[in-house]
Amino acid sequence: MNLKKSVAAFAEAKKFMPGGVNSPVRSFGSVEGNPPFISHAKGSHIFDIDGNDYVDYVGSWGPMILGHADSKVVDALKKAVERGTSYGAPTELETNLAKLVQRIYPSMEVMRMVNSGTESTMSALRVARGFTGREKIIKFVGCYHGHADSLLVSAGSGAATFGVPSSPGVTSGTAKDTIALPYNDLEAVEKVFQNCGNEIAAVIVEPVAGNMGLVLPKENFLPGLRAVTEKYKSVLIFDEVMCGFRVALGGACEKYKIKPDLICLGKVIGGGLPCAAYGGRAEIMRNVSPDGKIYQAGTLSGNPLAMTAGIETLKILLEEENFTERLVEKTSRLVEGLKNIAEKSGVKVRVHQAGSMFGMFFSEKEITNYEDAAAANQNQFKKWFFAMLERGIYLAPSQFETLFMSAAHTEEDIEKTLKAAEESFKVL
Ligand SMILES: *Cc1c(COP(=O)(O)O)cnc(C)c1O
Repeated sequence: MNLKKSVAAFAEAKKFMPGGVNSPVRSFGSVEGNPPFISHAKGSHIFDIDGNDYVDYVGSWGPMILGHADSKVVDALKKAVERGTSYGAPTELETNLAKLVQRIYPSMEVMRMVNSGTESTMSALRVARGFTGREKIIKFVGCYHGHADSLLVSAGSGAATFGVPSSPGVTSGTAKDTIALPYNDLEAVEKVFQNCGNEIAAVIVEPVAGNMGLVLPKENFLPGLRAVTEKYKSVLIFDEVMCGFRVALGGACEKYKIKPDLICLGKVIGGGLPCAAYGGRAEIMRNVSPDGKIYQAGTLSGNPLAMTAGIETLKILLEEENFTERLVEKTSRLVEGLKNIAEKSGVKVRVHQAGSMFGMFFSEKEITNYEDAAAANQNQFKKWFFAMLERGIYLAPSQFETLFMSAAHTEEDIEKTLKAAEESFKVL
């Protein structure tokens, strides 16, 4: 595989940006390689500046559920851009997108559009704290909720219930209000609530975890979180920035039939443009400024181009016959194929699927939390990753990420992927 131009472009980029990138995982640090620099993408394929053509399972880390440059989205954007790119004043587009979101997520009684998943979780936490008048929050190790200070916190050592910063620059004062617990460990959550339940403003969780690889919730986990937060009048926040519109059309709320108090959406909601949202119970959301006193704002929030891409995307999800069923079925075919091939080749893997999300761990052991995920075989992953890349399959450059199917992936793409997988297992 020739990456000559990408190698030069990476060297040039590094002069101007940390790691040559604007988001760390893009630098291929954990697989120690040179990322292909992208020239364009169409449908299920992504192309680099060296002329390589890949089947893309990253999909911009989730948003591209229709595939790249979908013709309906592109046409709508072309018309929208002629009408001006930002006004800083209300438009009907914002209400139109909110209505579509609410049809899919009925629990989003009142919502606010923002520009990124980070903004949505950061704001949801502020609202939960403002509403309850409490300061502490619970998060789970291995769940990622963006890069706001209170969420870049890991578990303190031993019996300590308060968290420690997981990044320099996060103050210990901020970290001490975040309690980080193991994913899927309901008992640990209940114990914290017994100790200081009246101080807990919110529990924030990825109801299907996609940022430590793909890890599914155990059967009692989400209902248990709902019950304990209800009992102590804490706010339950589902961060569905990744799993929203994917584990089911109505995300984890629909799949697991749970009504959280607040929901964070991102990625798919913007159809590939910067957009995210948070919302939920009206009683809570009416405290957001200017209805209430909890401040949150954004110059580009509700941007007309982002609203347009979101509207076109969600309309297709809602209106195309069996959109989600077909997408999930296609994902299952690939996942079953991968399992069969791995078994035949004797490589020990765990392949997980949740709707149109999937992921693979090089591990013999069951994987239910971050500790399990971190113990998976990193060397095997690296070899497999590059073997797949050389065969034209573009996967996330880390075992701790999730892969995404799009409506644009074809039978040929899946055949090609399975053939590449069979050859790549032999390299290990
Ligand atoms: C991607 C992601 C975020 C952060 O979204 P950004 O748009 O990158 O800020 C938050 N939560 C989850 C679950 C995510 O997957």
